[in-house]
Amino acid sequence: GVRHEATSKIVLDLERLYDEASEDLAYVARYARAIQQQRGDYNGRVLSIRADDLRALAIVYDASPSGLIERLTEHGVLVADPRAFFAS
Ligand code: C2E
Ligand code: C2E
Ligand code: C2E
Repeated sequence: GVRHEATSKIVLDLERLYDEASEDLAYVARYARAIQQQRGDYNGRVLSIRADDLRALAIVYDASPSGLIERLTEHGVLVADPRAFFAS
């Protein structure tokens, strides 16, 4: 079937991302910090990122965008539903 991965918003769990000791996510964490700086968005527990930026990051990881999504999911740093995230 057709999956519209690119159209669903990519939301990072910053606490998990920054706590995660795994070197595998070092570039994602650095990128997220840079985006926070550019936006002046320092107090959020989550960060929505651009699909374009995911594409750029995937290149760094020598992966496809969906491959990187998979990796982020394995590490538990993606928020599927930000509103449910705050409700829990
Ligand atoms: P910019 O790309 O010229 O965007 C200017 C402003 O337009 C942003 O200010 C934001 O208020 C709004 N904006 C642009 N694209 C979007 C969007 O997809 N969704 C929403 N909700 N608003 C959007 P802001 O956030 O203060 O960012 C300032 C500048 O920092 C941006 O200028 C851009 O150059 C950079 N930046 C911020 N966040 C990102 C990001 O996630 N990725 C990249 N590549 N650059 C970013
Ligand atoms: P919130 O800030 O109260 O936003 C509630 C909803 O308003 C969002 O639900 C979204 O549908 C809409 N909204 C808020 N800001 C924007 C925006 O700049 N552009 C667009 N198009 N819609 C906007 P959503 O996306 O499910 O997010 C739920 C909550 O997750 C947000 O509540 C906020 O607390 C958090 N969140 C999501 N992305 C970010 C982020 O990049 N930075 C921060 N600090 N918080 C975020
Ligand atoms: P969002 O604000 O709900 O925006 C959804 C999509 O609408 C964006 O997906 C982008 O394709 C388009 N869009 C919204 N505002 C603008 C704009 O000012 N300029 C342009 N060229 N396109 C715009 P995208 O890029 O994948 O971003 C996903 C989410 O990441 C955004 O959801 C927003 O929550 C966040 N985001 C992206 N860029 C910025 C930014 O520069 N500043 C802030 N504060 N948030 C951003």
